[in-house]
Amino acid sequence: MEQFDVIVIGGGPAGENIAGRCTDCGASIAVVESELLGGECSYWACMPSKALLRPGEVLAEARRVPGAAAAVTGPLDVAAALAWRDDITSHWHDDGQVEWLEGADGVLVRGHGRLVGERRVDVTQPDGTVRELEATKAVVLATGSSAVVPPIDGLRDVRPWDSRAITSAQEVPGRLLVLGGGVVGVEMAQAWKRLGAREVTVIDAGPRLVTQFEPFASEELSEAFEEEGITVVLDASVARASRDAADGEGEGPVTLALDDGRTFTGDELLVATGRRPNTTDVGIDAVGLEPGEPVEVDDQLRAAGVEGGWLYAIGDCNGRTLLTHMGKYQARIAADAILHGSTVQAWADHRAVPSVVFTDPQLAMVGLTEAKAREQGVDVKVVSHGTGDVAGASVRGKGITGTCQLVIDDARRVIVGATFTGPGIGEMLHAATIAVVGEVPLDTLWHAVPSFPTVSEVWLRLLEAYGL
Ligand SMILES: Cc1cc2nc3c(=O)[nH]c(=O)nc-3n(C[C@H](O)[C@H](O)[C@H](O)COP(=O)(O)OP(=O)(O)OC[C@H]3O[C@@H](n4cnc5c(N)ncnc54)[C@H](O)[C@@H]3O)c2cc1C
Repeated sequence: MEQFDVIVIGGGPAGENIAGRCTDCGASIAVVESELLGGECSYWACMPSKALLRPGEVLAEARRVPGAAAAVTGPLDVAAALAWRDDITSHWHDDGQVEWLEGADGVLVRGHGRLVGERRVDVTQPDGTVRELEATKAVVLATGSSAVVPPIDGLRDVRPWDSRAITSAQEVPGRLLVLGGGVVGVEMAQAWKRLGAREVTVIDAGPRLVTQFEPFASEELSEAFEEEGITVVLDASVARASRDAADGEGEGPVTLALDDGRTFTGDELLVATGRRPNTTDVGIDAVGLEPGEPVEVDDQLRAAGVEGGWLYAIGDCNGRTLLTHMGKYQARIAADAILHGSTVQAWADHRAVPSVVFTDPQLAMVGLTEAKAREQGVDVKVVSHGTGDVAGASVRGKGITGTCQLVIDDARRVIVGATFTGPGIGEMLHAATIAVVGEVPLDTLWHAVPSFPTVSEVWLRLLEAYGL
């Protein structure tokens, strides 16, 4: 049996980060990975999706700038855009990540890891042999999540695309149906429309897109989609899916039939209706936990109900917030708890999760929405200002729109939530995150003077709207 201080099952961003922080402190580490070191994020999620969105975003940006717009004389070079996406994903090879881990003195164990007892992990390697590992300090589950296919009649039979298929697709579908108007659905809808899909239709069961955002953000995105020819169908209940037989090369078209009798047909269907934690086959039943469920953790990411406190779960598999940066945050908190007995808690998970939808316009939020703040009994005051109504926006291009909103705890005079919409606005979010996390008093923020002419001047207008 091989011994390590810490064994990490799953080498996505959360797993890699805890490995890095532990090896930095001289701990011996094994990372067990069944696919590619770097995880979903590097190869089939954050990185390729942002690479697919970027060419269309830059083109739209240039078209907003007189002088530059005239230079945009042709369509996107789709082959070059897809080749760039392939570069960003290192062509789905993890040599670079392996080099990093080994350079940091971590040990990569390729294969499928399962807990088999207290601090013990068996790894079934690609050749079928089993490698037995034991952790002296902790085992960390960082196994991520997978896309779910909802139980709709015929849906599995039409061979829909999931997030992996759409982020790695090598051809632009002529007509794309997107089931699910969450972050993955809306980002991929716009990316592929701008890459040349003739028709894109987003179908969602809810009353608006990206429901975790403020209603105004959903509305602005829907309007932008309609303007660029992306159809948005809301409050839709899908009764069944079917695919016609092929009449030549490839597959026949796929049709979604709604309960109200409407039908929508496309060449491909992306199903982006949510994710489930990868906890089905990792042996958590061996330590009394429920397979298939998110691993419940405390605020130091220690699995609840496991005696001895040696099991941790970070990233998507604990179901707290399915975002790379939050998984990495949890990794830092857990590493310090494991190695140094730190008592620092992961409280930002509850109060200050930053989140960006990388569409054009971008939607960016941190902390509480107005409704959530009211639900929590905060003495709420809301101020907002048009993103385009500052000098910084007018020199960035013509027709820049969007909204910047702060949710203020009026009794404490601190910001508890912020939502910004507009082109490229995600880069402005970190200032709001600092204000929320630091509970910076508004009277202090008054002295944080934004440079002229930046879009950040909107901060001044928001503080003035509050009454400063
Ligand atoms: C299309 C898309 C776009 C996204 N865009 C963003 C974005 O822009 N920003 C953002 O913050 N988040 C984004 N996300 C979410 C982000 O991808 C996840 O939150 C992040 O990947 C979670 O990291 P993780 O380390 O927990 O898990 P993962 O990245 O899922 O990695 C888990 C790893 O564990 C391995 N594994 C699982 N089980 C075992 C086992 N038993 N043995 C060995 N190995 C195992 C898997 O092979 C995988 O490599 C996006 C998601 C999708 C689907």
